[in-house]
Amino acid sequence: MKVLKERILKEGRCYPGGILKVDKFINHQMDPNLMKDIAVEFIRRFASSNVNKILTIEASGIAPAIMMGFLLNLPVVFAKKKKPNTMENMLSTTVSSFTKQRQYNVIISREYLNENDRVLFIDDFLAYGNAAKGIMELVEQSGAELVGMGFIIEKAFQDGGRYLREKGIHVESLAIIESLDNCQIKLKEE
Ligand code: 5GP
Repeated sequence: MKVLKERILKEGRCYPGGILKVDKFINHQMDPNLMKDIAVEFIRRFASSNVNKILTIEASGIAPAIMMGFLLNLPVVFAKKKKPNTMENMLSTTVSSFTKQRQYNVIISREYLNENDRVLFIDDFLAYGNAAKGIMELVEQSGAELVGMGFIIEKAFQDGGRYLREKGIHVESLAIIESLDNCQIKLKEE
């Protein structure tokens, strides 16, 4: 996605340990027009998937997911990282955080994900695929069908993409980073 790649090259910042900072336009300050373009591109790429619900994980997946839900007129569910006192019947699993170097629980109420759903998972980054694996586990517990996973940015050198594709999941990433070596952002050509 050309416009996204240009923004990454212009405004993305690289940090040691293979971390790309895009908080000027994606996950802190957000550019709603870019988010809309991102959602439109996801919709194009998953056009034949017959989705009835968009699934994401808090916090940074919510913006692109809700844009898609708005454009497609579909409900959006986000997996929560803290259990509300009021939630009883829930699906739960544990995820290792890449950026925060710790483990956390992710939960979804059974009320909002069940065997009648065909869900598309959307998130900002795909790195090692830990968040995605947690989502796969929750979707499996729910009996829903996972029809695909869309990421704004995939870091190809961190292997999550390979794992998911080998599992037969339809993965779409709008910008793929081949390397951040020497703090140079190297994007995959399309
Ligand atoms: P994974 O679970 O695939 O290892 O990592 C994905 C999650 O970690 C994403 O939801 C994202 O929030 C965070 N993440 C992974 N890599 C990066 C990165 O380079 N930059 C930022 N800002 N977040 C990242």
